[in-house]
Amino acid sequence: MKRLVIASNNEGKLRELSAILAPLGFETVPQGALGVPEAEEPHHTFVENALAKARNCARHTGLAALADDSGLCVEALGGAPGVHSAHFAGRLGSREERDRANNALLVEKLAGRAGRAAHYVCVIVLVRHHDDPEPVITEGRWHGEIVEIPRGEGGFGYDPHFLLPALGKTAAELDSAVKNRLSHRAIAVSLLAERLRATP
Ligand code: IMP
Repeated sequence: MKRLVIASNNEGKLRELSAILAPLGFETVPQGALGVPEAEEPHHTFVENALAKARNCARHTGLAALADDSGLCVEALGGAPGVHSAHFAGRLGSREERDRANNALLVEKLAGRAGRAAHYVCVIVLVRHHDDPEPVITEGRWHGEIVEIPRGEGGFGYDPHFLLPALGKTAAELDSAVKNRLSHRAIAVSLLAERLRATP
């Protein structure tokens, strides 16, 4: 099994990434277990933020590092919250409190607007060392729509408001194994695995 440090402290992401990567032959180690400080995410694109996080993690550990920068883009909000998804409603409180505040703000901003189409984006960056000139970069998208009333207990973040119309369920109502087969994160990781098989 190959060891990969994951450049994230988000429990939801870590849980999903380790479940998706394990069958592909990767053992994951969260950066927090190695004392890596959080990287700044000052950029306007998912790919730049993912690269900054992966390089920060590889620099501190001397190991290969994988970063996931992801978010929710809502059409009626011009793509917001996008790269600001984690801190849409501010930086105060625990992750659970921030998720609750983010979801409340999302519903508030959509009140009275037509059009609920939205998609999740996940950009995965793998660097083999901190100044790797050829990072492996993949991207996944998952399309759905925003519902006002939250449903389900699974997943994390915006999942209780993210409806998959074809399934008639929100992402938080899906079994975790199903979410981990269909999600933006699952798509990005499976493209990463394909790339690694082609160029080990
Ligand atoms: P990042 O850590 O800067 O990449 O922020 C990712 C944020 O996007 C999370 O904190 C969530 O708010 C949101 N997000 C990303 N992926 C998901 C998902 O699979 N479900 C729900 N929310 C997600």
